[in-house]
Amino acid sequence: MNVLVTGGAGFIGSHAILRLMEDGHTVTSIDDFSRGNRGAIAALRAVGPFEFVEGDVGDRALMATLMRDRGIDLVMHFAAKAYVGESMDIPLTYYATNTSASIALLQAMDDAGVERIVFSSTCASYGEPPADRVPIREDCPQRPINPYGYSKWFVERVLFDHGRAKREAGRPFGFACLRYFNVAGNDQKSRLGEDHRPETHLIPICLEAALGHRKSITVFGTDYATPDGTCIRDYVHVSDLIDAHITVMSALGPGDERTYNIGIGDGSSVREVIEATRDVTGRAFEVIEGPRRAGDPPMLYADSSKIRDELGWVAKHTDLRGIIDDAWRWRQVHPHGYGEQ
Ligand code: UDP
Repeated sequence: MNVLVTGGAGFIGSHAILRLMEDGHTVTSIDDFSRGNRGAIAALRAVGPFEFVEGDVGDRALMATLMRDRGIDLVMHFAAKAYVGESMDIPLTYYATNTSASIALLQAMDDAGVERIVFSSTCASYGEPPADRVPIREDCPQRPINPYGYSKWFVERVLFDHGRAKREAGRPFGFACLRYFNVAGNDQKSRLGEDHRPETHLIPICLEAALGHRKSITVFGTDYATPDGTCIRDYVHVSDLIDAHITVMSALGPGDERTYNIGIGDGSSVREVIEATRDVTGRAFEVIEGPRRAGDPPMLYADSSKIRDELGWVAKHTDLRGIIDDAWRWRQVHPHGYGEQ
């Protein structure tokens, strides 16, 4: 299949390119390097050939030309900004990058006659679900509590409206919204890793502390209504997440409207992640108990039985220590990440 991967220099997009190449697909990717790593593209070039364009996913004319020229069959749309805390500070940037650019991309797909997309959505679209709705099913009401969650949820809304209109016009459009929980780990041959600039994610921050690159780690809130007072998240291995994309891509037909939660179905608290990192790395680091971070819901973990029942996908990596171990192996070889920017 001819697949366009937006955000291919990012953590998840780069893993998608790797897997698509390994499976024999033809890959075209675009990234503006506002968040991604040039080092990820270099690492991928060592694995196999793919077309890469440095540019803006929100540039409708550029994207339409690219998709026409490359004969794209399906888009995997990863390009986005994804920090909850940052989205509280610069909401317009989140709506521009995540929502407006996605609309421009859909217009470009329409211009180029590309009829299928797998969209990276988020569990942040559920906001703060009541305790009796956790584990979270896809029919849980979506009530985001931060601009990041809204910026993605709006795109879901757009996709449903666009899909209906295309269906009524007799040109069925297939889309899937994959609502990711917390993605971690990296490819097990350590060719790619997780390296955000700035880094805000818990597991990479713990690993940087273990490496001595950070003096300490701060726990954002210890007074949540959870067993140990810290937030609970569902950490899903990036290889499993990409596996879900491949599974969905193969199943996605004309007129499909699919939404799936992608998680392991179990949650780990911030304290449990810190403890697991200490075990895996064998290194101690200072932990400071700090105030809550704005926009953080206390508990998010998935009920992923819908994608299991419909498409047979289940997460293979369900052990938090194993997921951290994969990330740690890459970090040991790349102590400064991709070492650039
Ligand atoms: N967290 C923390 N300290 C940090 C970074 C994150 O306590 O330095 C917490 C954060 O408040 C959340 C959890 O770890 O409860 C996961 O945060 P992350 O940013 O990794 O992912 P998110 O859930 O925001 O997508």
